[in-house]
This record gives sequence, C-alpha cells and structure tokens, in this order.
Amino acid sequence: MSTIVAISTPRGRGALGIIRLSGSHALSIAALISGMQSEIEPRHPKLVTLRDDHHSEIIDQALVTYFKAPQSVTGEDVIELSCHGSPVVLRRIIDLTLSLGARLAGPGEFTLRALSNGKVNLAQAEAIRDLISSQTEAAARQAARQLHGELATALEPFKRKLIDVIVLLESALEFVEDDLPLPQVKGIEESLALVGDNIERLAGSYDAGHLLQDGVKLAIVGSPNVGKSSLFNRLLERERAIVSDVPGTTRDTLSEPVDIEGIPVLLTDTAGMRVTADGIESLGIKRTHRAMGDADLVVVVLDGSVQLSSDDLTMLTSSQVGRRILVLNKCDLPAYQGGSDESWSGEAIRVSALTGEGLDKLRSTILETFDTTTMESGNLLVTNARHHDLLRHAQAELKVAEHLLHDHKSEELVVEPLHNALRFLGEITGETTSENILSQIFATFCIGK
Ligand code: GDP
Repeated sequence: MSTIVAISTPRGRGALGIIRLSGSHALSIAALISGMQSEIEPRHPKLVTLRDDHHSEIIDQALVTYFKAPQSVTGEDVIELSCHGSPVVLRRIIDLTLSLGARLAGPGEFTLRALSNGKVNLAQAEAIRDLISSQTEAAARQAARQLHGELATALEPFKRKLIDVIVLLESALEFVEDDLPLPQVKGIEESLALVGDNIERLAGSYDAGHLLQDGVKLAIVGSPNVGKSSLFNRLLERERAIVSDVPGTTRDTLSEPVDIEGIPVLLTDTAGMRVTADGIESLGIKRTHRAMGDADLVVVVLDGSVQLSSDDLTMLTSSQVGRRILVLNKCDLPAYQGGSDESWSGEAIRVSALTGEGLDKLRSTILETFDTTTMESGNLLVTNARHHDLLRHAQAELKVAEHLLHDHKSEELVVEPLHNALRFLGEITGETTSENILSQIFATFCIGK
C-alpha cells in the first residue's frame, strides 16, 4: 500500500505545523529528509534538521516521532513531524516527501487505514470526524464517548441476542419436525421485544443527538422594523446585523452560529415580511420563507409598542405550523394599549432588544423548546443520521419478524428479517458496510485525519 502524507494541523500560520506520513516507506522517507543515520527508537521524539533533496539547504528544524507498525494510529508505520507552522515551510516538506515517493492523502485516509487495520470501528471513525467538527462542549463530549466505542458496546448485547434467536430458529428448522414449542416461541418474542425497545430508545435519542451535533436552526422573523436585527445581535452578543429605523434594511438572510448554554444554535436574521414592490426586497422575503421552512424553531418578533399590522397578523397565522416562540419586543417603551387580550398575548415573551430585558427568559424558552435535558442527561445519544437510519431499518425488520412469529409462519420466513436487522446493526460499526458506502462516509472527513 502506498505511503500517504498530509498536513494534520489547520491551514495558515501557527507556532507548529504537524505533518504525518503513514505507510511502509514512512520511515525511509523521514530518514532521507532528516539525514537520520542511527535507527530512531519508536515513540521517542528526536530533534532533526530537515534538508532539501540535495542535502544542501536547511528547510526547518523539527521533532520527529516514529510509531512502528502495528502500534500506531493507522496500524502502519507512522511518522509525525512537528515542524514550525509556516505554510511555506510545510509545503516544501510535503513536496519533498512527494518527490521521495509519498502521495497526498485523501480526506480521512489515515482513519480509513485505521479502520482497515482494525484499529477503530466505523462508528468510532465517524466519532473522530464529529469530535473535530463539534461546535460546543456538549457535542464534543458525546463524540468523545462514541470515539471510546460506546455505541458499539451498547449494540453488542442486542446483536448477541439476535444471533441467539437466529441460531435457535435455524436449528429448529433443521432438527425439529413440528412447530417450536410454545415456551420457546414466548422466549423468542420476549427477546425480540427487548431488543426492539432498546433500539427504539437509541433511535429516539437522535432527536436530541442531531441537534447537539448539527445545531438548532433558528430563524428570527417578523415585519420590518420590529427589532429582528437588534434581537439577532443581542443573542449573538455582538453587533453583526445592521440595525436601522428604515424599514426593509435587512434584505437578505444572515446566519451566525451561537452557543446557548452548550447547545449549538445557528441564528438566522431574515428580511422583514411585508407586501412590497421592491424586487430585491421581495427576493429577500422569498429567502425568509425558505429559512422558515428549514428552521427547527422560528422566533416571531412583534413590536409591542404599536398596533399589530396586517403583515404581523399574517405572520402570526403562517408561523403556527411547526415550533415557534412569540416575542413582543420594545417592552422598554410604553406598551400599545389594546390588543393585550388577544389569544396569542399569553404565549408571547416580553423583551427589549435595546436594554436586554427578557433575553434570559427568551434563551431559556429556546432551550425548553428542545429536549435539552436529554442532551445534557449524560445518556448515550445517537448523533449521526446514518446510524439513526440503520437503527430504524433494523427496528422495522424486527417488527416484520415479530408479526411473522405471531402469525405462526415458518422459521425460515422469520429468520430472514432477523438476518437483515443484524446486517443493519453491523453496518453501524462497519462490519457489514460496502466499499461504496465507506468511500461516501470518508469523503466527509478532512484531509490529514
Ligand atoms: P428589523 O427591521 O426588524 O431588523 O429591526 P431593527 O433591529 O433594525 O430595529 C428597528 C428599529 O427599532 C431601530 O431603530 C432599533 O433601534 C429599534 N429597536 C429595536 N429593538 C428595540 C427595543 O427593544 N426597544 C426600542 N425602544 N427600540 C428598538
């Protein structure tokens, strides 16, 4: 297998930049560029001078660490070069390794090799990617748990139970003349129900898990001038959007990530909704509709100091589908007298984007809208859409098997969906994942990982 190389640290300038090589030529390439004469001891970093291919010019001074196969992250010979973090220096070193026979690693190729060599299972490999991309502490904590193999461990007893049931049914198929005795059928039914319940619990945790990993998409909507941009800035705790008393200033959607008590939230400020003849503004309004459709939660902002407009009323009706929070802004001003007995007024949170009043209440309501207690509960959460899909598929197959069993169908028929369920569970950890799916998964990794 070829020797791969990549810069493992982020792009740009830094105190250090790390280059990794993995493969059978990793050590000889490192020896050639560093002029290492004596054999380097595995896992003992050594300070070396890196020179160009004619050994004439010094490129950098670096710390080289050798991880001898199979005791390395990929299971192959691995060299880690801690160089000075200049993009120019790193590029020169990479070019040098390429000229000596290494090849640039593709996305996630180091992890793919770790998977092929049995160093990690697929769920752990995905957890590495999720840990790197996690946006909050809570998301990082979940990814770290999965990196530790918790999901595979959680699934193991259910897979074993399914195998027991399959073995029982298959041996009955071969050796038992009549139908299975009733107590055995009961036992199988109980086992399948137990596995089904546990898979349901895991699959059900995805609601919270995916919000933790991918973030909550929150759109701030309302008529022009009600204070959407002011509220957006308040929640972000900085002046990101332009605030103006000229209606129609925000003509496009603007999104920024923010961490609300450990939960990643992608805030979107939208163009004010109103009937308009302005082409650009109506384009913005179209995008607002799209943002509302995409959002996990819509915050509808109303100006509490004036009478609601017909645009506000349309907004109130159209936002009723899906999760929404009503916000009555500008509560620092004298409230509009009248309309307070409207049906929605009890639902609305009174805030002032100007003074910050009511903002804590708004933040806690945002969190309450989602099951954040599940997110913070310390339970293992399924955070990955692929895992969730496979769990649901496995669950559906179990249901089919349960029905067939209930209808006294032959063991041969019952066994088939159970094999399918087992295969779906196996795909989570990569035991039964095709090359095609693997390449799709690893395409989402970053280079150097
Ligand atoms: P948008 O068009 O809905 O995004 O509204 P902006 O955030 O641009 O605000 C419109 C105007 O209302 C600006 O002059 C803001 O300063 C003002 N404004 C926004 N929020 C408040 C508030 O809570 N109290 C008061 N008094 N004025 C506000």
